[in-house]
Amino acid sequence: MRVPFVAANWKMHKTASEAISYVTDFNRHELSATGVEIVLAPPFTAIHATSAAVAGTATGVAGQDLHWEPQGAFTGEISAHMLKEAGATHVIIGHSERRHIFGETDEDVQRKVQTAIKNGLTPIVCVGETLDERESKQTLTVLNRQLEGGLKGLDGRQVGALVVAYEPVWAIGTGRVATPAQAQEAHAHIRLRLGKLFGEEVQQQCRVIYGGSVKPSNVAELTSQRDVDGALVGGAGLEPDSFSEIVAKTAATTV
Ligand code: PEP
Repeated sequence: MRVPFVAANWKMHKTASEAISYVTDFNRHELSATGVEIVLAPPFTAIHATSAAVAGTATGVAGQDLHWEPQGAFTGEISAHMLKEAGATHVIIGHSERRHIFGETDEDVQRKVQTAIKNGLTPIVCVGETLDERESKQTLTVLNRQLEGGLKGLDGRQVGALVVAYEPVWAIGTGRVATPAQAQEAHAHIRLRLGKLFGEEVQQQCRVIYGGSVKPSNVAELTSQRDVDGALVGGAGLEPDSFSEIVAKTAATTV
């Protein structure tokens, strides 16, 4: 049985004080009994405040990126150790905005995933095709390349414990959500590929979540698909009420 997983990626939104008031409202929904693993991913400057605000609850906190070096002359970057000390438990790696706006490669993703695991942070590894790639029937090839490149060098135990987020680039922040059938097809493929690369047990264990214009109104049809274990939420994760509704609906529908 895979525990459903739902994360809110706040991107470049919310100061530390805004994060605290979000968590105060979010905690009122008392979602810990739902059995869903919940993670908030604030900007670096709000990680400490967010982790202090969720203390005593089961909610985790994720960085939105990290650098593979432990320290050094890397202006603007952040290390795994810094994230950990600020209170992070997870880290998003290879988000499509990192790949497509900032030129992150599968090799970068691989180094970051290794670094996160070595430092006790659970990676949320994002994969997904662009619209051009989907229209030219490259989706499964792109997913294979991103999975093989990003997870290279890991063992089955490590892959079984991380989270893969399938985020079709054309669905992120566009309001154009994948159909349940499109999501299920990609998730089933990812799961099968993980099984081929890392073994049957990993295929059953690894959580594969969907991201791309998830909202309270569409989450249930996505998370009720057999291979969709939860959601990575951008825009609808910025409001505690809509994010709570997404968590509650995931709990009710994940199979
Ligand atoms: C995301 O940023 O990972 C995301 C899925 O964004 P949105 O939900 O806004 O499409």
